[in-house]
Amino acid sequence: MKPASISADGFTPEEPSIVFVHQLVASAIANFGLNLDLLEGITILADYQRGVSQFDTGFEDGALSASEGSVVGVGMTPLVLRGAVLKCHILLPRKVVDDAKMPDHSELARKARYTISHELGHCDDHQNLTSRFRAEVLDTAARRNVLDVGCRATWSEYYVCRLVAKECPEMLRDMEESTVRALESFEAESRIAARYGSMGDREEGQRHAFGAGFNLFIVFARLLGHLDGLGMSFQAACRIAPAYLSNLVRMADVEELHRTLSALWTRRHEWTALKEVRQLLTPLSAILNRI
Ligand SMILES: [Zn+2]
Repeated sequence: MKPASISADGFTPEEPSIVFVHQLVASAIANFGLNLDLLEGITILADYQRGVSQFDTGFEDGALSASEGSVVGVGMTPLVLRGAVLKCHILLPRKVVDDAKMPDHSELARKARYTISHELGHCDDHQNLTSRFRAEVLDTAARRNVLDVGCRATWSEYYVCRLVAKECPEMLRDMEESTVRALESFEAESRIAARYGSMGDREEGQRHAFGAGFNLFIVFARLLGHLDGLGMSFQAACRIAPAYLSNLVRMADVEELHRTLSALWTRRHEWTALKEVRQLLTPLSAILNRI
């Protein structure tokens, strides 16, 4: 199966990069059994920041911005609305495709190919979501609700990383490092949240706490999904993060998050409502209560 279109700024369909991405898509389907029916196309962008901000998702509130600083966040796969039809579209920086084309043994190439497989994994996740929860996906209130968006993003990262972990096991090291960075920034943000709380501005404090908490959970979800995808346990494989856990984030919280995510995974084909991912709020509340 070929996605409807793969395009790169100013290049023809015969351009080697485009032929190469078609091959990567075919091998991702063969290796991971991905369902890419929802994929509208892949756009390779020479100017990623600008291309992302100008991309039309078709949603009224769907303006995109490219986030930086996240290891896996170097591409994105937004849902798009075309008339009444939901699809998804992969946006990739041209550099990722150029890196992916380098010789096989290069670490840069392996990580770039992982990035492309990871984004294709998001298409598979979107397919599950939209086929069963179309109404919820189109519900503007749910799209703006920080709790729904955060839980959904956490689940999605777990699902995708678990699905494609074998593409590049060495990503685990990067994920450990980004977990440590996320823990550090969560501690800093929680101090800001506590200061707002003590000044009587609970709402602003909560906004900080939820934002930072979900950032942390998304990073943990990547790590846990990757470990599960490789059949490795958190305690055995992750040497750095436990040493950084603190009074605010404890091992028991990570284990609770892991239990919830892996329970959702085993039931992923029988969910009856998208609201079930809200179970992820239980471990998050335990942490936020300590701020
Ligand atoms: Zn992702």
